[in-house]
Amino acid sequence: MSKRILRLNETKELYKDVDFISAIKEINDDYYKEKGIKKKALIFTYGCQMNEHNSENMISLLESMNYEMTEDQNEAQLIIFNTCSIRESAENKVIGLLGHMKTLKESKDDLTIAVAGCMMQRDDPRNIILTKYHHVDIIFGTNNIPKLPELIYTQKETGKRVLDIIENYDLVDDIPEYNRLYSHKGFVNIIHGCNNFCTYCIVPYTRGREISRKPEDIVKEITELANNGYKEVTLLGQNVNSYGKNLDRPCSFSELLELINAIPGLERIRFMTPHPKDISDELLEQYGKLDKLSKHLHLPVQSGSDEILKRMNRHYTKEKYISKIEKVKEVYPDIVLSTDIIVGFPGETEEYFEETLDLVKKCKFDFAYTFLYSKRSGTKAAYYEDQIPHDVKLERFNRLLDVLYDIGNEKNTKLIGTEVEVLVDEISKTDDTKVSGRTDGFKLVNFVGTSDLIGKIVKVKITDANTFSLEGELID
Ligand code: SF4
Repeated sequence: MSKRILRLNETKELYKDVDFISAIKEINDDYYKEKGIKKKALIFTYGCQMNEHNSENMISLLESMNYEMTEDQNEAQLIIFNTCSIRESAENKVIGLLGHMKTLKESKDDLTIAVAGCMMQRDDPRNIILTKYHHVDIIFGTNNIPKLPELIYTQKETGKRVLDIIENYDLVDDIPEYNRLYSHKGFVNIIHGCNNFCTYCIVPYTRGREISRKPEDIVKEITELANNGYKEVTLLGQNVNSYGKNLDRPCSFSELLELINAIPGLERIRFMTPHPKDISDELLEQYGKLDKLSKHLHLPVQSGSDEILKRMNRHYTKEKYISKIEKVKEVYPDIVLSTDIIVGFPGETEEYFEETLDLVKKCKFDFAYTFLYSKRSGTKAAYYEDQIPHDVKLERFNRLLDVLYDIGNEKNTKLIGTEVEVLVDEISKTDDTKVSGRTDGFKLVNFVGTSDLIGKIVKVKITDANTFSLEGELID
């Protein structure tokens, strides 16, 4: 394998008349005729729901080229790592796994290895792969997914390593058709990138600035989903409620929700992730007006200390955040609330941490995603000098979990005896006599049932409660 990296634009003229999807499909069909088995592809996905959705798009493209998806790396002819940059540990894990891939690559002459996603948008990890991991054949960024067929084709035709990294967000929606992971709930990107530069976060450096999709394109995509029997959509973006600011004809996030709420056949609308600084009263009032809007608000607070919030560059205060939560509770008292919290951010004193505990008790979150702060090189906070010792972070983290679990248990216990509507997602991961799904408020419910319930909204009576899930009985 040549060490020289080929960029896609170098072969643009040469392959200008090639229909890449058909060409790869033909190659894969020949493989099937010769070997009697289909070529298989495997994607390792890391990170957030945006990445999950990007992998979903890649699967769609791969299946259109007659790849069969597998979970076994030993039988795959194509392995793609869809990477995440949010934590240094996530990057190190991928680098480690890629090292192990060298042995697999050497043992199979028909294996292609590709690395995609946020890590490849960053110079440092990309350069490590380029210079040290010569067994990686294809490298592409978050905005180059529609080019996947061309990348595979070019790598096969030239035998060279191929690279494509661009900053053009318009291309993200150019995928010919979606073949989604679920047939009852779908993810829909509404805004790409982020303008916020929180001091702990690498995303604005990897996903670029905010660009909103046109409302008509979003409504068209969701209408097609609803026409195909989809009941639920989750609107995705790094900062969804900043939606619409860069459009020629501005449309607020709240207005977009109204348009989506009017789509016939659709039953539930979720979104993630909103930013507290951009959450308007108009949006919070929609919880009392839009019947399809899921009665769950995930609003990342990160810290309850004004000083720490300032150092994080979050642009709101504890008081302001709590006022948003109080407002939404006024509009819809039973709303399910969740958040993200970082423990041990540089400069976090015991007093500042107690502000976080106080906020958690006041807001009464049903659940939270909690993180120990870890340095992320390339971000401002990594250079703050007053880093917190690991044992202090851990002790605070455990105290926070105790408070969160008590509140979560208390809120879930109150649901025992109530009837809820559950959109059934899958056979339960822990008991195959049961199915599991989500309430409108995103609570996980397990109950005895069979696979024919998957994709249906059914009534369930809650019989027991745990910290993170509920048990129930199907009501006929
Ligand atoms: S809002 Fe902050 S945490 Fe979220 S993606 Fe943007 S910079 Fe990162």
